[in-house]
Amino acid sequence: MSNDNYAESELYKIRHSAAHVMAEAVRDLFPEAKLAIGPPIEDGFYYDFDLGKDENGKPRTFSEDDLANIDKRFKQLLKKNAPFNQSSMKVADALEFFKEEPYKVELIEDLVKNEGVEEVGIYQHREFADLCRGPHVPFTKKVRHNAAQVLRTSGAYWRGDENREQLQRIYGTAFESKEDLQAFLEALEEAKERDHRRLGKQLGLFHISALVGSGLILWLPKGAMLRETLEQFMRKAQLDRGYLPVITPHIGSIELYKTSGHYEKYSKDQFPPITLDDDEEYMLKPMNCPHHIAIYDAEPRSYRDLPLRLAEFGTVYRYEKSGQLNGLTRVRGFTVDDSHLFVTPDQLEDEFIGVIELIKHVFTTMGMTDFEARLGVNDPESDKYIGGMDVWARGIAAIEAAAKAANMPYTIDVGEAAFYGPKLDFMVRDVLKREWQLGTIQVDFNLPERFGLEYTGEDGEKHRPIMIHRAPFGSMERFIGVLIEHFNGAFPLWMAPVQVTMVPIADRHIPYAEKVAGELRALGMRVEVDGSSDRMNKKIRNAQLQKIPYMLVVGDSEEEAGQVAVRTRDGGNLGTQDVAAFKLSALEKISTFARDL
Ligand SMILES: [Zn+2]
Ligand SMILES: [Zn+2]
Repeated sequence: MSNDNYAESELYKIRHSAAHVMAEAVRDLFPEAKLAIGPPIEDGFYYDFDLGKDENGKPRTFSEDDLANIDKRFKQLLKKNAPFNQSSMKVADALEFFKEEPYKVELIEDLVKNEGVEEVGIYQHREFADLCRGPHVPFTKKVRHNAAQVLRTSGAYWRGDENREQLQRIYGTAFESKEDLQAFLEALEEAKERDHRRLGKQLGLFHISALVGSGLILWLPKGAMLRETLEQFMRKAQLDRGYLPVITPHIGSIELYKTSGHYEKYSKDQFPPITLDDDEEYMLKPMNCPHHIAIYDAEPRSYRDLPLRLAEFGTVYRYEKSGQLNGLTRVRGFTVDDSHLFVTPDQLEDEFIGVIELIKHVFTTMGMTDFEARLGVNDPESDKYIGGMDVWARGIAAIEAAAKAANMPYTIDVGEAAFYGPKLDFMVRDVLKREWQLGTIQVDFNLPERFGLEYTGEDGEKHRPIMIHRAPFGSMERFIGVLIEHFNGAFPLWMAPVQVTMVPIADRHIPYAEKVAGELRALGMRVEVDGSSDRMNKKIRNAQLQKIPYMLVVGDSEEEAGQVAVRTRDGGNLGTQDVAAFKLSALEKISTFARDL
């Protein structure tokens, strides 16, 4: 649903109205609460409150019990009908009317200052009046009490500014019907089940240690296996398309990033510089681009060398605030499947098309078939971009032409460009229909300029190359976080960290289980043998909990006949097969990236 349609929809009015009634409930129970703002959002609405300070001078918060009481009161109020009355008030009257509400006063003063208003809009139902432009439903009863719910609370800053007051936000939602609310709550529960932090622990994929540091991911053996499998897939896809591997260090001289402009643009988001005794300064690398540029610049280049496609799984570091860190999706160190293509102006469009096609290939193979592209362009009003307007226009035109040629539909997003050039971002919807920004391709005329890059053209003259930055996965950490939730931890066979668990029925079958495991490993498969003293059913259950695709049960009869009894993680029983037949079918599924077992 696009934002324009949503803002005009009945659902939007319902949620906006629900926010008022929920705020009314909060005021009934916490008369001292000051009101901030309460807009509808994508999945519902929120309202921010200031509850004052506790005895330690810390902002007071809502407890789980408070939330339950607010939800109860909210629903009682929804059952009692009342009309929403719209009116307007002269600014002076409104300031008097809201004099106990400092946040409303500030909003009114800003409206006067920024928009020169003389009157402000008020919506009132019962005793509850709010500064508001609407629109609302005509009666509170239009928000059905069995289709609305208080969801959760979190901290928030007034106007999103961490230097301003800390407020308490309550999220809620409302739908047109009870059934819609039920479906939403089930999806929420499903998302909790699939949470990559929970599955990451259960499946032994990754760990975050307070001793190592926040936001720094420790890949456990199975997670590392998964990541290596994805990297191998990408390395092969890149080699097939003429990319060349490079490897660069994790730090670089501060001069490098001053030249690139990263130092200035990212200074707030970086770890502080490392200063050596002799005044040399280094930085953890926030981006791989400057290092790849130095490789381009390591020798004289001619048009015959172009396009030059340099690729690296390059680890970069950003200083995310600890409150922003979240599992694999917001971290302080991450690895980008990064590549920089140095091209002539004539090559730009074809190379861009090639990258779009690679990204399509990657997402489709991963089983993420629901994606679209967004073209991020510069905001002409903003001064955060480097480079002239003509250069930006050329970049945008090249991306549009490439996207059309590659049959990749896109929408345009003003202000979403990188600081050095326009970009095409890929938005992927997972099985729960949640949208993730994953791959990205960017055109850059600016860094080649800043570094004075050149190549000798066919005409014998010096020319400036254009750079394409691209990363289909984006961050490996974030991508794997999304994959874990997308597949609910049950990865396709080719991707699964452990593909087969051998289940010997008794200890005397362990040697045969090991022998079959050895044969499968020789074919490149990832196999474990469960040599524990557990009974067969327990071994199968354990493997299923680990979401291992195949369990091969072996007992006397299987051993005698050179066979295995094949079970699948979803409870399927494929019966007894010759080892050779199992190998053939498994290898077929692996080589075709099959998603079914
Ligand atoms: Zn309102
Ligand atoms: Zn780059």
